Amino acid sequence: MSNNKNDQRSDRAEYDLIVIGGTVGGLSVAISTQRAGLSRVRVIEPGNAIAFPELVPEHRLEVGYGEKLLGIDHDGTNVIVTTEQRTYVAKGCLIAELHRDPSYEPPVATALSGRVTIDTLPEDLSNSDILVIGHTNHAVELAGQAAAAGAGVVVAAGGMDPAQLAPVADSMIRKLEHERRATILYRSVPDGIGDKDEFPIAYFNDRRTPDLEFDHIVFASTRVRVPRSELNITSAAIDSNKVWFLGVAEPDIDVPHGHAWEIGRLLSNACFPELELPEAPSVVQRRVRHESAIAELREEHYNATITRFEQRHSDLWVLRVRPDHGDTSHIPGQYASLGLGYWEDRVDNCVDPGIDARWHKLIRRSYSISHAMFEASGYFAPPDTVELEFYIVLVPADDDHVSALTPRLATKKVGDRIYLGPKVAGRYTLSAVTNPEAAVVFFATGTGEAPHNSMVVELLRKGHTGPIVSTVTVRNWKDLGYIDAHRALEKRFPNYHYLPMPTREADVPKRYLQDLIRDGDIEAALGTPLDPGNTHAFLCGNPAMIGLPEETVDDEGTTGVSYPETTGVIELLVDRGFTINKRNQPGNIHFEEYW
Ligand SMILES: Cc1cc2nc3c(=O)[nH]c(=O)nc-3n(C[C@H](O)[C@H](O)[C@H](O)COP(=O)(O)OP(=O)(O)OC[C@H]3O[C@@H](n4cnc5c(N)ncnc54)[C@H](O)[C@@H]3O)c2cc1C
Repeated sequence: MSNNKNDQRSDRAEYDLIVIGGTVGGLSVAISTQRAGLSRVRVIEPGNAIAFPELVPEHRLEVGYGEKLLGIDHDGTNVIVTTEQRTYVAKGCLIAELHRDPSYEPPVATALSGRVTIDTLPEDLSNSDILVIGHTNHAVELAGQAAAAGAGVVVAAGGMDPAQLAPVADSMIRKLEHERRATILYRSVPDGIGDKDEFPIAYFNDRRTPDLEFDHIVFASTRVRVPRSELNITSAAIDSNKVWFLGVAEPDIDVPHGHAWEIGRLLSNACFPELELPEAPSVVQRRVRHESAIAELREEHYNATITRFEQRHSDLWVLRVRPDHGDTSHIPGQYASLGLGYWEDRVDNCVDPGIDARWHKLIRRSYSISHAMFEASGYFAPPDTVELEFYIVLVPADDDHVSALTPRLATKKVGDRIYLGPKVAGRYTLSAVTNPEAAVVFFATGTGEAPHNSMVVELLRKGHTGPIVSTVTVRNWKDLGYIDAHRALEKRFPNYHYLPMPTREADVPKRYLQDLIRDGDIEAALGTPLDPGNTHAFLCGNPAMIGLPEETVDDEGTTGVSYPETTGVIELLVDRGFTINKRNQPGNIHFEEYW
């Protein structure tokens, strides 16, 4: 207990919770605890306005405007909050007041004036256009106040993560947008402020936002907790665990504290254990609710449309993607990159590690370009120049790894937008197959078949007469996304054979691609020996199947190679005289590893 004399005042009012500071964080806790059943909650606001005045009647909030805080103490049972007007006896107290960070500098070099300010809104805002620059709760507070005063509001909120906003700011920003009282530019910040006929003009250096003129521009400063010394708070109050501070974790913080979304629950657990606050939405749910933030991110990053999304089964897809601009010319065997934002929904409930820092970023992955093989007419489909076909399998998250792109791709459908890398790339092509009579063998695991589909068609289309075998291991028959097209090719071209190898079908003996070489199946299908002098082998997919050797150097400086413990296809082919194709050393083993 302390000796604070202020708690000796006679006009003591009893409350459940005293919230100091009408910030969005303070209002969030006042509203949520009142909703959960607290009947005596008072917000003490030292200034003459709270973040969103319209919330006062809506939620029947009790606010003491202009109440200057004198001190906070604990008498062993209750928190004693003393202001210039009164002394309050409460079961709990939240300090939600925040101050401007003294080190705050506007992010844009500019001269402050009556029309360009930090944190200060002009007195008369009716019929004026105002730009608020900032991405924090405080920017939302200023935007809400300006909108309430009748201004047309734009918020340059570049970098705003809606999940980091306090609950009240979260719902306020959605309401402002919904009622068209504010335009939120989630991705834009001006990089210059000029002057046009004495009015400020904001220059945006991004393609999305034109330069805009305003009556006023206000920077929303960053906010920090009020120093303990200024609050005149006693150690008894801090140690009581009944006085909480709004704020994210900081190394030096020595008081009970919590982020806006969790502080209501933390404080209630400590002060009102009987109170049942509803579960807060997850950060993912919080972001998804901000449709316009997501729409802006999609608009910024996506440059292509999914024109076909065919599920061979729930986890195996053939999709086609059409870019907005440019053609899709490529050489069979090459790959392109596809991307979706971390902001997209996942098909599972997994949470990507570090999502908060990267939720607004793009996940990009390489995908071999596949091929439809036939048109509906039965003729070969010509090489794609307008859209690209991909053959993709879902990589499920497991205990060790939360896969990023494919669980998001799983939620997509025809018409949805996606990122397609501007360039196709890759040296995994048929350029080395110059003899039309050569034997060509393709080895694939799963969707590693994708590039082979277009390579096989390319060979046959060009009149290749040598034997061609395409072989693939999958778990089950249903994992063969293109089997009908391959069977149709076999009927038309006697020099082509498709050898699918399911490893988990009861009636098929479990064998791997390596067994097909060892047991002579490949040679039987080719109708000729595996002759390194006249055969090209293409290997794509799982690195374990490929079995790429490592180059080694011993103590004497002699170079050699070391093969992986499990024998891969490369080792078997090298044993038969094949050589790996390298940039400066042509060979007849070509490979593409998927990871
Ligand atoms: C040049 C190139 C072409 C590719 N082409 C295709 C393609 O045509 N079709 C396709 O489905 N994938 C292809 N991939 C793999 C693809 O780039 C992604 O790695 C894969 O889709 C997983 O992405 P993710 O973000 O969901 O998982 P990530 O978070 O990237 O997880 C990657 C991990 O998932 C595992 N993994 C990756 N692919 C598979 C797979 N197919 N089966 C099982 N485990 C896997 C590996 O352990 C890898 O380390 C290709 C990769 C490369 C490098």
